[in-house]
Amino acid sequence: MQDHPVIAIAIDGPAAAGKSTVAKRVAERLGFTYIDTGAMYRAVTLACIKNGLDPKDEAQAVSLLPSISIEFDSEGKTILCGEDVSKMIRQPIVSGNVSYIAAMKPIRLALVEMQRKMADSRSVVMDGRDIGTYVLPQAQVKIFQIASVETRAVRRYEENLEKGINTSLKEVEEDVRKRDYIDSHREFAPLKPAPDSVLIDTSFLSIEESVNAVLEVVKDKTGVTPKC
Ligand code: C5P
Repeated sequence: MQDHPVIAIAIDGPAAAGKSTVAKRVAERLGFTYIDTGAMYRAVTLACIKNGLDPKDEAQAVSLLPSISIEFDSEGKTILCGEDVSKMIRQPIVSGNVSYIAAMKPIRLALVEMQRKMADSRSVVMDGRDIGTYVLPQAQVKIFQIASVETRAVRRYEENLEKGINTSLKEVEEDVRKRDYIDSHREFAPLKPAPDSVLIDTSFLSIEESVNAVLEVVKDKTGVTPKC
């Protein structure tokens, strides 16, 4: 039983800023549900590639929507049409194409509807690009998490190594820069800080320090403190 009303925490920011790591831990500490909206755009991209469709072609990508289902299981794994694709959606082929898919308005509208439903009746920590500005503008807590592009590229490169994803540091940095450009220049719901968001620069913060910085804002805005 929650002893507070339904609360939404939005964490937005550029690629590989550590949003999902921080969001997941904040959710665990507060007993909230973590929702990785980037995984949903990645799942649509993977579905396109698997079906031999061009992820830059809006008509082709949109034609897939009625036939695919995207869910998160109880462990937070991404399930595409019944299959666990959590690892596959992190592959460079998906990262390199996801921003084209995410710039398509009909795809955004379909995924945003699902995201809003997920936050309807439970407290969530949701990370993405447009959560505070478009998906959940009523969120009580809005964080815009950033770090220098060099720091982000090194972090993602090391994360990839751990996951057995084979990429060079140069490739990762190019991917991060390209996605940031497309994500912040698209017409519909681009990446930008909500006017009422709190900026957290994690360039020189550890994960624990970043988590605590978010928890401080949560306490300040809602009075809610960690359960553990
Ligand atoms: O968060 P992640 O880096 O996994 O997101 C992958 C891509 O999905 C982003 O680069 C962006 O193009 C898209 N995205 C988005 N809106 C969101 C979440 C992700 O456009 N709310």
